[in-house]
Amino acid sequence: MKDNELIVCRDVSLGYEGKSVLTDLDLTIAKGDYLCVVGDNGSGKSTLMNIIGALDSPTSGEVFANGKNLTKMSADELADYRNKTTGFVFQSFYLEPTFTVLDNVAMPLVIAGVDRRTREEKAKAVLEQLGLSDKIGKMANELSGGQKQRVSIARALVHDPDIVLADEPTGNLDSQNGAEVMALLRQICDSGKSVVLVTHNMEDAKNADNVIFIKDGVAEMRGGLQ
Ligand code: ADP
Repeated sequence: MKDNELIVCRDVSLGYEGKSVLTDLDLTIAKGDYLCVVGDNGSGKSTLMNIIGALDSPTSGEVFANGKNLTKMSADELADYRNKTTGFVFQSFYLEPTFTVLDNVAMPLVIAGVDRRTREEKAKAVLEQLGLSDKIGKMANELSGGQKQRVSIARALVHDPDIVLADEPTGNLDSQNGAEVMALLRQICDSGKSVVLVTHNMEDAKNADNVIFIKDGVAEMRGGLQ
């Protein structure tokens, strides 16, 4: 692996119950790269995202992250990789509705065993960065969809991950809030982190540096769409 490479997938295949979802996929994500994954429903986009985020492992092939082979790691090592290296953003936000914004954002640090004071400092700092300071004490279920997604992005960033994985992050948002989320993902990439965006929205895909098209389990890599 070269120094600037964050994720390398080599010859990755994954099948469920004899049905092939991804076939012989090769993919490199450099540090600071913005990659978009597009394809029809059921084409394997989320599966690829889950492999990169170590929520799923391939049936064959290898996945390297920061030079370490994820396919050879124990469950504990994979959990550590997820906690330190990846931040996830989902279409449905997955916030705890009756927790405050601050507690939602601090959640990954609870899992990482960080003390309360440091957790709160870090969560406040990232909320401030994203212009959400005034929402700190609100319950998640008091927020609009756009606010929820920005809070979930803050949660994805609070532990300073190397890569943010966003699975259809604008799927439940109107176009203005969708554009704000897209601007945030670009900003995250410009700050040096890698971003992977799964979408079926070709306008959103134009934000990325590279696009990977998945069809019938086979991936085709192209440059940006701009
Ligand atoms: P996309 O994100 O492109 O909509 P997915 O990656 O979610 O597609 O799913 C790709 C295919 O794999 C689909 O046919 C889906 O039904 C199947 N699949 C995904 N996860 C599982 C699973 N845990 N068990 C069995 N089949 C699955």
